[in-house]
Amino acid sequence: MKELSFSNDHFFTPGEAQIDVEDRGYQFGDGIYEVTHVYNGRLFAFDRHLARFRRSMREMHIPITYMDEELTAIHKDIIEKSGIKNGAIYFQITRGTAPRAFTFPGRATPHLSMTIRESEPNRAWQEKGISLALVEDIRWLRCDIKSLNLLGAVFAKEKAKAEGCEEALLYRKDTGLVTEGASSTFFLVKDGVLWTHPLDHLILPGVTRALIIEECAKELGLAVIEKTFTPEFAQGADEAFEASTSLEITPVIKIGDKKIGSGSPGEITKKIMASFQKLIQKECFS
Ligand code: PLP
Repeated sequence: MKELSFSNDHFFTPGEAQIDVEDRGYQFGDGIYEVTHVYNGRLFAFDRHLARFRRSMREMHIPITYMDEELTAIHKDIIEKSGIKNGAIYFQITRGTAPRAFTFPGRATPHLSMTIRESEPNRAWQEKGISLALVEDIRWLRCDIKSLNLLGAVFAKEKAKAEGCEEALLYRKDTGLVTEGASSTFFLVKDGVLWTHPLDHLILPGVTRALIIEECAKELGLAVIEKTFTPEFAQGADEAFEASTSLEITPVIKIGDKKIGSGSPGEITKKIMASFQKLIQKECFS
């Protein structure tokens, strides 16, 4: 498998780069990340990823020490040097290295690192659909920031795996309401209307979510409602799917012990999947 890393302005084989033990990314999870997909050697929806990256940096009060043009050039460079045509770029910035103390260090320089690796969305999951385990959402209350603190998602994914599921569907115990997947946005279809959680501090503003609402639903003339709902409402949906950079759009056929709709990928979901593929074709293949 082809792969390549970048750190401190140099390219490395993954595993060869050296990171300071007092990088705040290690000690506090004090940093943010992005994952962008590469199709046909080209970046998909990169402007949206850059915009979210800048927002995360602002919310974390991490100074931005790279211009958009530089970040774009580094991404294009790593694609070219790796020779990867279809893959994912993981990109992170930490607050930098400083003697361990909770408060922000005065003089740390943010540390950028990234890895590109060949990968493809799981086409078998897209064809057959996946099952979700219902898991309590124990994450912090700033899920709108794409921060390095991912233990809530790690535990949720482990629980899903132990239950034989491919992803978790998270719900908050205090409200009893669904938020999102452990690493994806959850959508359902009920009576022809698309439902998903509103943008707030409890979910990540997904790039795929935005593309579905702003492009695919518009193209298909689908009504979208950004509103919270219970796990039982989700289990009673006609159709459901998860959306993310890595999954693209992947149908959901089971939540907990309940079959969704007929137990196979829904017709509206399939139309949204086709509409999303057209966006990829337009941006990366034409
Ligand atoms: N929600 C969470 C918690 C995520 O971790 C992710 C992706 O990693 C998403 C949603 C989907 O975001 P995107 O579509 O930008 O990949």
